[in-house]
Amino acid sequence: MRLSRYFLPVLKDNPAEAAIASHRLMLRAGMIRQSAAGIYSWLPLGFKVLRTLENIVHEEQQRAGHIPMLMPTLQTADLWRESGRYDDYGEEMLRIKDRHGRDLLYGPTNEELITDIFRNSVHSYKSLPLTLYHIQWKFRDERRPRFGVMRGREFFMKDGYNFNVDEAGALHAYNRHLVSYLRTYERMGLKAIPMQADTGPIGGEHSHEFLVLADTGESEVFYDSAVTDLSLGDRAVDFDSVEQCQGIFEEFTTPYARTDETHDEALFAKVPAERQRTARGIEVGQIFYFGTKYSESMKAKVSSPEGKEVPVHMGSHGIGVSRLIGALIEANHDDKGIIWPESVAPFKVGIVNLKQGGEATDPVCEMLYQGLQLCGLDPLYDDRDERAGTKFASMDLIGCPWRITVGPRGLKNGVVELTNRRTGESEEMSPEAALDCCTQIFSAV
Ligand code: ATP
Ligand code: MG
Repeated sequence: MRLSRYFLPVLKDNPAEAAIASHRLMLRAGMIRQSAAGIYSWLPLGFKVLRTLENIVHEEQQRAGHIPMLMPTLQTADLWRESGRYDDYGEEMLRIKDRHGRDLLYGPTNEELITDIFRNSVHSYKSLPLTLYHIQWKFRDERRPRFGVMRGREFFMKDGYNFNVDEAGALHAYNRHLVSYLRTYERMGLKAIPMQADTGPIGGEHSHEFLVLADTGESEVFYDSAVTDLSLGDRAVDFDSVEQCQGIFEEFTTPYARTDETHDEALFAKVPAERQRTARGIEVGQIFYFGTKYSESMKAKVSSPEGKEVPVHMGSHGIGVSRLIGALIEANHDDKGIIWPESVAPFKVGIVNLKQGGEATDPVCEMLYQGLQLCGLDPLYDDRDERAGTKFASMDLIGCPWRITVGPRGLKNGVVELTNRRTGESEEMSPEAALDCCTQIFSAV
């Protein structure tokens, strides 16, 4: 993308309404604009990151064998009356009447709708196991929307639902989701720790939340520091293997890690003192196993292998896709701006032309721009007629992981400068070598 043709309305000053870094930086970097409290327009740069995260979530869900679909944002109230949650959900639910006076609602989650779809089409254990998911906007009329996309009212969420004939099958689905979520967050360059959680209004027996440690997080968390050393890495996972998923589940959930809602002082005291940690965290996902809670109330039954009618065992699983952008920035920024992990950066490489219109600089920038594009790296070429300081400040603010600076002085010696946004380290090299370097770095990501 050529910056002169892009829409990147950066702000020089800190917006007064933003209390935390990610909110401030998303506004300043021209990623979002508020439309109403907790409701945002996603400007091109923010939208690009949102799509990148959405794609990673899709890939990892499908790798685990889960099937994508799309349910609407508006739902009929009747289904929620059937499950008993229409009244329970309270003021967080946005209720709407259509022109015929029928009650609708903007979905805060989709257990009822998916259960309805399921019960109308699936009648035998032979169609199971099944896990369906979608990534769709949700609305929760939060009492205090705040921190930008971290606690919005309208937010983008992946929610998935598994259907199994028995508890054992549903527990495998639970473990499989935990493993696929670990992979998802790791791919985004994030460490998200699974912590035992309360089941809240969803109900059920088992639940884990995934928390990214950050001082600005809304949850208080207690954990054994050993849990932060764990990583899935690039080990091969067979998502159909009950043993392997169970093993990974145990590996990641055995060290003590809980939020204040489930914290147990006596258990925590058994963690060696030097490994006890108290911190704050951002919830970026949650998984639930709730057995037959919805299938009983909504009569979602299948015939079992023994020929009996049994309610299906279900779980639901959510990832806060839009909140993740806030979490990523909280975990990756400095006072100049955002520092995107390479896998989620909206533009992988920035090109700064120090002399726009220069006889030497322009052709080199063009060569780099075309070359990086050919290699599939999305470069952002700052081809505006601006001062060097302004160009560097924009690049630092929007956080391209790598920057190539092309100036007349360097080119006299045949070199450009390649700079790493995270470390600030720079190296001079020929333009061709800079192109090679970038290609190699990203072929490993
Ligand atoms: P919280 O405790 O933060 O209110 P929740 O437990 O009510 O969240 P879930 O029902 O578990 O939320 O939804 C799944 C995921 O959706 C959460 O883990 C979170 O990442 C995201 N999410 C929930 N509420 C919001 C919100 N208001 N704004 C942005 N993301 C949200
Ligand atoms: Mg939750």
